[in-house]
Amino acid sequence: MTVAVRFAPSPTGLLHVGNVRLALVNWLFARKAGGNFLLRLDDTDEERSKPEYAEGIERDLTWLGLAWDRFARESDRYGRYDEVSEALKASGRLYPCYETPEELNLKRASLVSQGRPPIYDRAALRLTDADRARLEGEGRRAHWRFKLEHTPVEWTDLVRGPVHFEGTALSDPVLIREDGRPLYTLTSVVDDGDLAITHVIRGEDHVANTAVQIQIFEAIGAPVPEFAHLPLLTDAAGAGLSKRLGSLSVASLREEEGIEPMALASLLAKLGTSDPIEPRLTLDELVAEFDIAKIARGTPKFDPEELARLNARILHLLPFERVAGELAALGLDGADAAFWEAVRPNLGRIADARDWWAVTHAPVTPVVDDAGFLDEAAALLPDEPWDLATWGAWTGAVKAKTGRKGKDLFLPLRRALTGRDHGPELKNLLPLIGRARALKRLAGETA
Ligand code: GLU
Repeated sequence: MTVAVRFAPSPTGLLHVGNVRLALVNWLFARKAGGNFLLRLDDTDEERSKPEYAEGIERDLTWLGLAWDRFARESDRYGRYDEVSEALKASGRLYPCYETPEELNLKRASLVSQGRPPIYDRAALRLTDADRARLEGEGRRAHWRFKLEHTPVEWTDLVRGPVHFEGTALSDPVLIREDGRPLYTLTSVVDDGDLAITHVIRGEDHVANTAVQIQIFEAIGAPVPEFAHLPLLTDAAGAGLSKRLGSLSVASLREEEGIEPMALASLLAKLGTSDPIEPRLTLDELVAEFDIAKIARGTPKFDPEELARLNARILHLLPFERVAGELAALGLDGADAAFWEAVRPNLGRIADARDWWAVTHAPVTPVVDDAGFLDEAAALLPDEPWDLATWGAWTGAVKAKTGRKGKDLFLPLRRALTGRDHGPELKNLLPLIGRARALKRLAGETA
């Protein structure tokens, strides 16, 4: 049996960190098992599904490196859902109901006020042919409910362990709307069956759906997959993440926060597991470390500060080849490995490299505290070619000549050469600044 999993977002909004964590966990599970990963767009809600959200989902997954082996779109499969629905109607498992939303609300409110669970009373099962004809004559259209078996439903969840539901505690779900459109509860099962999904890994908001869907798998004669329900991420305050929560969308982390894909993947692969969160530079490392049994049942909190710190640690480790494209996209065309290695320890996000590019390659207004000292230092600047030893040799000579040491020696040089008090090690920057610029800056000129 080939392991097959799916990530099944509805293209009704931007993916947020919680959604993409489920994509990542599915992908890691597939890769670890040598199986395949399906991207399925659950787009049967035609009012809310938008092509730009579908494109956004593909862009986000591609950016993270989560390539899909198979792709499906539910709106391509209406014919198949009709076929299955007709079979379920013929076997009596789908039955027509005519209550209006208002009538259903009243029924629910009355049950709740009696302290009873709001379970559909199956009144529609008692309608006669004549009743149905009358209702249709009044212009009502049927919606269709799935008739659950009133037997226990059980499965061993890969995250939650044994799960048990009483069939009598579940409400017969509506699978077909009155306009004839099939609903997710059905379409998902038909797809999982047809596409031979072996493991359904999703959020714990779907646990009750699973109880219902197991009965639908059985009713349509499809094998029941294994299930894993992950606790949902919350924000730092413990509140749930919503799809419309812009700041935690993958797009804004990428485009506004400058987060590296491996920073997000390193965090999301480990959040809520027994493993420590460490920077990882490749998805392969995360695959090697992945085990769904490490996912704990507690609610993991997503902390943007933690992501920002991890992003900095990842940047400090990334080799030039991995960032050359991003540096070019920032407009730093001549950036090379020497530049990258000089500045990367000082970056929180890659766009910060622009500041240091400006220091090494664009005019800087020096900060001059003591022009006399800078003149003495300039006179001692060695001839080029310069390398990583030049700074040490030069400042050694300045120290011997002037008697200055420590901060008194280094800070005025840094302020003159870079116009700032802090920054990358001057040993690395000096060769990038070059002798001509350095001489001018030491003379107080903008250069
Ligand atoms: N489209 C559903 C959702 O986004 C998929 C749930 C599932 O994985 O079955 O919640």
